[in-house]
Amino acid sequence: MTLNTERAIDLMRKANRIVALSGAGISTEAGIPDFRGPGGMWEDTDLLRQMSASGFRRNPEGFYRASVTLFSTIARAEPTLAHRLLVRLEQLGKLDAVVTQNIDGLHHAAGSDKVYELHGTFRTGRCTKCGSRFDMSDFYSGIESGQLRVPSCTACGAPIKPDVVLFEDMLPEDAWQGAVEAAQNCDLMLVFGSSLVVYPAAELPMIALSNGAPLAIVNLEATAYDAMATVNVRAKLGDFAKAALAAFV
Ligand code: NAD
Repeated sequence: MTLNTERAIDLMRKANRIVALSGAGISTEAGIPDFRGPGGMWEDTDLLRQMSASGFRRNPEGFYRASVTLFSTIARAEPTLAHRLLVRLEQLGKLDAVVTQNIDGLHHAAGSDKVYELHGTFRTGRCTKCGSRFDMSDFYSGIESGQLRVPSCTACGAPIKPDVVLFEDMLPEDAWQGAVEAAQNCDLMLVFGSSLVVYPAAELPMIALSNGAPLAIVNLEATAYDAMATVNVRAKLGDFAKAALAAFV
């Protein structure tokens, strides 16, 4: 175990109101590519063009066609050890909330209870006209096989949009407010697998720091917050979580 891993685990031992901010890097070991790493989704310009609210309204079929790989990857993904570590910390009464930028639903799938999904989720969706709610997993195989081009509402026939925050969309107000309050009250902020460049999510470590909480970052790359963190662990989250789970049995 590296010294910085030990130091991060020590901070977790001493804390009782941890808030974890997770990003795409917590799910790469579940097979879901991150945004900015090599081979990340940022390189998929077709996907990015379709991932806007106006793009969806203009061409829902194009949105589903562009996101089919992401859709099916998410549908098959299982939570990682790092997701499980956060469940364990919550069960021990040491973690107040998980705030995630991810849309893969893996924190809920792992069993985390208090989760603020700042960018929504691909797991559920709603009708763009009447608001009826749907479980998107009912549509994955149809979309993947090409038999279903646009999932449509069983009540009114309008297109169904997954509950994800697209470019041009507002963040869900409740999730954002909950995340800010959690950051204000935490006694340790853990950042797991985020480049910390997407705002307003990247404001949360600053909110925690300005309220006196230490910051621990576990990420493969450097972030703009590294100089302000009490500890930076430059390791794979799977390796870090394995060591930390052994410390919190
Ligand atoms: P990002 O892609 O900008 O950054 C991910 C960071 O995680 C990188 O700095 C990378 O070095 C690090 N990383 C990757 N694998 C790692 C591992 N195994 N261990 C430790 N670190 C690892 O992601 P972001 O900061 O979350 O911002 C991207 C945006 O993309 C978010 O808004 C999010 O909604 C969206 N997104 C979500 C998913 C998902 O739901 N799984 C996937 C891709 C993008």
